[in-house]
Amino acid sequence: MTVDNAVSIVTGGARGIGKGIAEVLAAEGATVVVADIDEDVAKEAADELPGDAMAVGVDVSDPAETEALAETVVDEYGRIDVLCANAGIFPSAPIEEMTVEDWDEVTDVNAKGAFLCVKACLPHMRTQDYGRIVFTSSITGPMVGYPGWAHYGASKAAMLGFVRTAAIEVADRDITINAVLPGNVRTGGLDDLGEDYLDRMRESIPKGELGTPEDIGHAVAFLASEEAGYITGTTLVVDGGQTLPESQLA
Ligand code: NAD
Repeated sequence: MTVDNAVSIVTGGARGIGKGIAEVLAAEGATVVVADIDEDVAKEAADELPGDAMAVGVDVSDPAETEALAETVVDEYGRIDVLCANAGIFPSAPIEEMTVEDWDEVTDVNAKGAFLCVKACLPHMRTQDYGRIVFTSSITGPMVGYPGWAHYGASKAAMLGFVRTAAIEVADRDITINAVLPGNVRTGGLDDLGEDYLDRMRESIPKGELGTPEDIGHAVAFLASEEAGYITGTTLVVDGGQTLPESQLA
């Protein structure tokens, strides 16, 4: 799949799934921009990548910062071929204890942040008549629910409504927008939930193990490739079979 030399922004690329996406894209020959609110860790991640790579500090929930990100990348490399809008947060709180500030923080980073990154990058993709946009959504929201993550589920479902409409808006160009839906992926964010919780997650996954950031990276790299140009407005579930309904005959 061709992502060779594709100038690729990965938000939240300093850690976890975003780091896995950045590593797979770089291994396939892409030029990767690790864009993360934690600029120091982003620099370390970019330094470890093979080939040309750079780090940019950005808070994806701030429109001035996402505009500056796109300008920085175009100044440096002349184009933006791939946008992986992956940055996300997942604090938990039962609904009765969830504050308006909790709700706003999660939806601002996850849903509004993805929109702002597209808004900043799309004019450049239109000018060059090429672009591949891949959101990291989640099985949470459209497919399953986890108590404590109502705001998170809402933000991840919102991303999918955006993908469907945006795909139609850009369909007259060689620009696509899709979402991957990871299941439970072993990242620092999940480690905080503790081994007991992770064991229960494993039991719910037919493949018997949590996913890795690289598993998600390979799915994203496919949707980001030139060859995936006829796939748009849709989702790719990467969950080890977790959301498959069990057979009534089993
Ligand atoms: P993580 O916490 O390991 O990494 C997230 C990265 O995003 C960090 O480097 C962090 O600094 C960065 N970030 C946070 N807020 C930001 C902001 N405002 N602007 C820019 N960068 C910011 O998380 P992860 O597990 O790798 O999750 C990455 C994405 O995958 C998220 O969107 C998450 O919702 C989604 N996801 C994760 C899982 C999972 O099981 N880990 C499952 C489904 C979906």
